[in-house]
Amino acid sequence: MEFEPVIGLEVHVQLNTQSKLFCSCPTNFGAVPNTHVCPVCLGHPGVLPVLNKQAMENAIKCGLALNCSISLFSKFDRKNYFYPDLPKGYQVSQFDKPLCHKGHVTIVDTGVEKIIGVTRVHLEEDAGKLVHAAHGADSGVDFNRGGIPLLEIVSEPDIRTPDEAYLYLTALKAIVEYLGISDCNMEEGSLRCDANVSIRPKGQKQFGTKTEIKNMNSFRGVQKAISYEIERQKDVILSGEKIVQETRLWNDDKGSTFSMRSKEDAHDYRYFPEPDLVPMVVEQKYIDTLRENLPELPFPRMHRFIEQYGLPEYDADILTGDKAFADYYEQCASVCSEYKMISNWMLSDLIREAGARKISFADAPVTPKMLAEMISLISNGTISGKIAKIVFIEMFDSGKTPSKIIEEKGLVQISNPEELQKVISNVVAQHPAVVAEFKAGKEKSIGFLVGQIMKETKGKANPQLVNTLLREALG
Ligand code: ADP
Ligand code: ZN
Ligand code: MG
Repeated sequence: MEFEPVIGLEVHVQLNTQSKLFCSCPTNFGAVPNTHVCPVCLGHPGVLPVLNKQAMENAIKCGLALNCSISLFSKFDRKNYFYPDLPKGYQVSQFDKPLCHKGHVTIVDTGVEKIIGVTRVHLEEDAGKLVHAAHGADSGVDFNRGGIPLLEIVSEPDIRTPDEAYLYLTALKAIVEYLGISDCNMEEGSLRCDANVSIRPKGQKQFGTKTEIKNMNSFRGVQKAISYEIERQKDVILSGEKIVQETRLWNDDKGSTFSMRSKEDAHDYRYFPEPDLVPMVVEQKYIDTLRENLPELPFPRMHRFIEQYGLPEYDADILTGDKAFADYYEQCASVCSEYKMISNWMLSDLIREAGARKISFADAPVTPKMLAEMISLISNGTISGKIAKIVFIEMFDSGKTPSKIIEEKGLVQISNPEELQKVISNVVAQHPAVVAEFKAGKEKSIGFLVGQIMKETKGKANPQLVNTLLREALG
C-alpha cells in the first residue's frame, strides 16, 4: 500500500520590537532573569495592557508579505491554561478574528514552484520560561520572555514531503528577515516550529488522523522529525492499528518522537474575548501605505535576478534566499558585468572559505568590491582562473585588494607570446619522447606538455595561448 504524507506547520516568530506587546518592558535576549518585568507582564491585579503599535504594524507587514488578507477589524482573546510560566493563567492571543488570513508562500523544490497556503497569521504574547538547574531537582521561572510579541503563522495542510517542509521554513524565514521584523534565531527561540503530520492511502481524498510534533530546534530537525513520524505512522497502520491523535516530542539525540499527551487530556482553552483591550481597527489607507513601503521580497527578487542578470533559477534562488547575500551579489554586479562568474565565486569559494573559517560571509574580509575587481582581472586576462583561486584565499586571509596581491606576489598572467615561446621550446626539447608520441597521433600527450609549461611558469601562463603556441610549435 502506498501512502501520501500530509503536513501542516505552525510557526511562532518572536518580533524584534524594542518593548513587549502590552507593556514597556525591554525585549532583548540573555538578560538576568526577571529583570525585564513589570506589573503588566506579571499579570498583577488591576493593571491594564496597552497594545504596542509597532508589533501590530510588523504583523500586518508580515501578513502582506505572505499575500494575506488583512482584517480591518480583529480582536484579542484569552487562551486559558495553567502553567508556572504563565502568571495570569491565560495568554492573550487571537482566536476567531486573526489579524491576517488566507495567504500563501511559494517554494521552489528542485526547480519546480509550489504554492503553500497560509491559513492565518495572528499576534499573541509569549510566555515565560522554566529554567532547570544543572544540579538537583530545582527549577526557576524567568518571566523576561513573558509578554514579548509573537506572530503565529499557520500553514494549510498543503505540504507533502519533509523536504517541502524544510523549503517552506526557509522561504518563510527569508521573508521575515527581508522585512527585518525578527531575528529568526531557532537556537535563541525567536523562531519555533510545530509540525502536524498525517498519512493517507495514495488517492484518498480524506485526511488521516494527525499527530503534532514539538521540540525541534533546527530546520533540519523539523525535516528529520517529520520523516521519522511518517515512517512511524506507516508502521502503525501496516500492523493493523490506528493512529492516535496526540502531541509527540522530538528527541534529536535519539532521532525519534515520543508521546507527550493524547487527545483525552488535550487542553480546552475556553477562549473568550479579552475585556481589557479594545479591538484592533485599522484603516485600508494605513494598510495600503504599509504595502507600498514593503521591501522587495525574496521570491520577486529571485525572478528579477533571473531576468536582469541571466542567472539560472538555482543560482538566483540561493543568492536571494538571504538578504545580505543578495545585497552582496548586487554590489558586485553593479561594478562588474560577469554576472554568472560572480555567482559561481559566491556560491562556491565564498561560502566554502567562510565556512572553513566558521564565519559568516558578511564578516569575510573579501568585500563585494574586492571580489568584483578580482573577477574583472580574470575577464580582462590579467590573471588566470587558476591564479585567481590563490588570490581569493590570500584576499580572505590578508584583506588586501587583488591588485595589491598580484603585484606583491608577481602573479600577473603571462600573455606575451615571446616569453611563452621560450618556455615552450625548453619543454619541447626536454621531452622528445612525449613529443614523438603526440606526433604519432596520441592526442592526450599534449596535456602533459601543457602541464609542464604551467609548472615552469608557476601557473601564470595564459592557458589558451599556451595551447595555441604549443600546437604551432609541434605543427
Ligand atoms: P488543531 O485544531 O489541532 O489546532 P488545526 O485545524 O488548527 O488543528 O490545524 C493545525 C495545523 O495542523 C495546521 O497547520 C493544519 O494545516 C494542520 N493540519 C490539519 N489537519 C491535518 C492533517 N489531517 N494532517 C496534517 N496536518 C493537518
Ligand atoms: Zn512588563
Ligand atoms: Mg489550531
